[in-house]
Amino acid sequence: MGKIIAVANQKGGVGKTTTCVNLAASLAATKRKVLLIDLDPQGNATMGSGVDKYDVENTAYELLVDEKPFAEVVIKDTVGKYDLIAGNGDVTAAEIKLMEFFAREIRLRNALESVKDEYDFIFIDCPPSLNMLTVNAMSAADSVLVPMQCEYYALEGLTALIDTISKLSAMVNKDLTIEGILRTMYDPRNRLSNDVSDQLKQHFGEKVYRTVIPRNIRLAEAPSFGAPAMYYDKSSAGAKAYLALAGEIIRRAEQQDAQAKEA
Ligand code: ADP
Ligand code: MG
Repeated sequence: MGKIIAVANQKGGVGKTTTCVNLAASLAATKRKVLLIDLDPQGNATMGSGVDKYDVENTAYELLVDEKPFAEVVIKDTVGKYDLIAGNGDVTAAEIKLMEFFAREIRLRNALESVKDEYDFIFIDCPPSLNMLTVNAMSAADSVLVPMQCEYYALEGLTALIDTISKLSAMVNKDLTIEGILRTMYDPRNRLSNDVSDQLKQHFGEKVYRTVIPRNIRLAEAPSFGAPAMYYDKSSAGAKAYLALAGEIIRRAEQQDAQAKEA
C-alpha cells in the first residue's frame, strides 16, 4: 500500500529538496517503487533528478490544473530509479489557477487516488511557504516529514510548523500525522547543534529519526551533476546517511504495519 509523505518546512534551505531526491533514490535502490512530486516552482527536485525543468512537456501544473491523466504527466524511471512529476515556474501559475476551482485543496489528493497503490512511497517536495500547493500536499499526504537544521531558532520554528500542520489537518485531512523529524546539515562538533538536538529529542522523542544527515559537500554538488548523491559519489557520507534513513523508514513502516495487524 502506498504511503504519501509531504516533505515540508516553511523555512527555505533546510534540506527539503535534498532529502526528497536522496531518500527517493535510496528507497528505490532497495527495490521500492517510488514517486517524487516536485511542487516547488524552483524546480530543484526536478533538476536534481536529472530532468531539465526548462525542457519538460508536463509538470504538476498539467496534473493539478488541466487534470491531464497521471500516466501522461509522469516521467518514468529517472536516473535515481524513481518516477517524477516535474516542477518549474509553471507551478507558480498553478498556485494562482487553483484559486478558481471548487474543492481546490484536494486536487492533488484526487489526482493520486488511482495511482497511489502502484507505489510504495510517494514524496511531495513542498515550497517553503504555506500556499495552496502546500495545502494540496498536506491534504493528499498520510504524513509529514520535517527536515530541520539544529540551530538557535529551530525549535521555535518547529513548534510553529507543527501548530500549522495540526490546524491544516483539522481543516483538510484529519488523519495527517507527523512522519518524522530529520536533523540535516548536522555538525557534531558544534555545541549548539548538540544542545538543540538534545532538546529536540526531549520534546519529540521517537519522532526524531535516529539517522542524522551530516553536512556533506557531495550532497550539495550532486544536483549540478543531475543525480542523487548515491549516483555521483556512492561512498560519500551524505549518500550513506540517506541510505541509512531509508532503512530506518522501512523498519518503522514495517513496525506500524505489524501493530496495525495486531490491533
Ligand atoms: P530546501 O529544499 O529546504 O530549500 P535544499 O535541499 O535545497 O533545501 O538545501 C539548501 C542548500 O543546502 C542546497 O544548496 C543544498 O545542496 C545544500 N544542502 C542540503 N543538505 C545538505 C547537506 N547535508 N550538506 C551540505 N549541503 C547540503
Ligand atoms: Mg527545495
